[in-house]
Amino acid sequence: MQKITINKGATPDDYRDYSSLRILLDEFTETVAPYIERLKDCTIWMVNSTATGGGVAEMLPSQMRIARALGVRVEWLVIEANDNHFFDLTKRIHNAIHGAGDEPFTEEDLKTFEKVNAQNLKNALEYIKDGDLVVIHDPQPMPLGKLIRQERDVKLIWRCHIGLEEHTDTTRSVWKFLMQYMDYYDHFVFSLPSYVPPEIESKTTIIPPAIDPLSHKNRTLWMAKCAGILRQSGITNHQDPLLYPYYKNLVRRVMPDGSFDSVNKYSDLDIINRPVILQISRWDRLKGFKELMEAFILMKKQNESKSDKSAITYKRIKYTRLVFGGPDPKYVSDDPEGMEVLNELISQYKNVSKALQEDIAILLLPLDNPKENALIVNALQRSSSFVVQNSIQEGFGLTATEAMWKQRPVLVSGAAGLRFQVQHKVNGLINQDPSDIEQLANTMEQMLNSPKERDKWGFNARNRVIDKFTLFSQLNSWLKLLSELR
Ligand code: UDP
Repeated sequence: MQKITINKGATPDDYRDYSSLRILLDEFTETVAPYIERLKDCTIWMVNSTATGGGVAEMLPSQMRIARALGVRVEWLVIEANDNHFFDLTKRIHNAIHGAGDEPFTEEDLKTFEKVNAQNLKNALEYIKDGDLVVIHDPQPMPLGKLIRQERDVKLIWRCHIGLEEHTDTTRSVWKFLMQYMDYYDHFVFSLPSYVPPEIESKTTIIPPAIDPLSHKNRTLWMAKCAGILRQSGITNHQDPLLYPYYKNLVRRVMPDGSFDSVNKYSDLDIINRPVILQISRWDRLKGFKELMEAFILMKKQNESKSDKSAITYKRIKYTRLVFGGPDPKYVSDDPEGMEVLNELISQYKNVSKALQEDIAILLLPLDNPKENALIVNALQRSSSFVVQNSIQEGFGLTATEAMWKQRPVLVSGAAGLRFQVQHKVNGLINQDPSDIEQLANTMEQMLNSPKERDKWGFNARNRVIDKFTLFSQLNSWLKLLSELR
């Protein structure tokens, strides 16, 4: 069990300095004051399985910083696990909650699940005291919640960040497997109502995820700063002045032969001068990378059959690059399937024609330094013409929210978590079926060749995030719930 230190960051006053956030913040501080009063004698413990990568690790630090600044005692614990079977199992649980996979859960699975969690109990009990509130995030540390509950008089909450809109045999079987732990929990938090298994509906609150507008992932970057980050991280290699030193670990790119090397080694990515379609995600089959690459190739091929090669609509597609960004496998410990999915993408990429290989970049982003990683994602999102999230299933899809905050229009699949955020033709386009390659290719082309709409949708996208998906709305709901459970 590891207690995570939260680095310094924006204070409530920093948000107040931004006119569009001031009203939000003032309303928020007034509303939460009575909740905070009720929470003053206890500690809130956030427990998950990783301090880097993914949505949970993304959101916790800024939420905790604001809550602490307002007087709430909140801490973050990460469970330790050195067992491949454990991560393989928790990935299967994750996939099953998304409705994917049909391997049954065995006695052996149960033993591993409980053993790894039990190894973290002693340490957890050194921190957690009677009267505290414990929020367990996602399935990995779920049995630990039960064990803590047996030893301490705490209120126990399970925060599930994933889900499927419908209940299938696969989801029913995984909920059945997890129900033995859920019985020990006092309350549940899901991102969307349709994700909640019927058995626990009466004890569930819906809190959608949110972004921190001032985090390194989302803060404003002026053009030269953005260009500087692309250069410092090795994404561009122009000879312009470099204000700050290179990052210790640079972004790597998958080469045509499948090896990893510096981004512009084989061919210049030229991200600054070209239209760019970007998708950033973990290497997960459910993120729809494979389908996106296929659709991009189809869009390019269809474009070549056009007769008027001087038309701007032709040229726009011709010069467009597709950029995938995901964790460099060197840094990811809790995602055994990630490498497998990346390898599948690499095989797909190796079979692409030479010319098209230059138009597709699979970038591996270093995760050793969270600030640098966040700035790289920020700069890539700002450098793109639009951001895609082609997920087959998506609990929420922070990558879409992040892009929308940056006034980037988004092209998303009809997965529930994305449909909930994006309004079709208001702040982007929804391409209902992420596996319909032809439709996706056409939607991408439509997006590229609608520059005025893109500007409008991007503008609206930012307003949508301010209205619904900033950390203040989220923290408000959390503090209300926790104070009621106390
Ligand atoms: N992310 C990142 N670096 C990467 C890949 C993803 O920082 O190489 C971040 C991304 O910006 C987003 C989060 O990880 O903030 C992913 O959250 P999302 O809700 O999109 O998907 P999840 O990973 O939780 O399924």
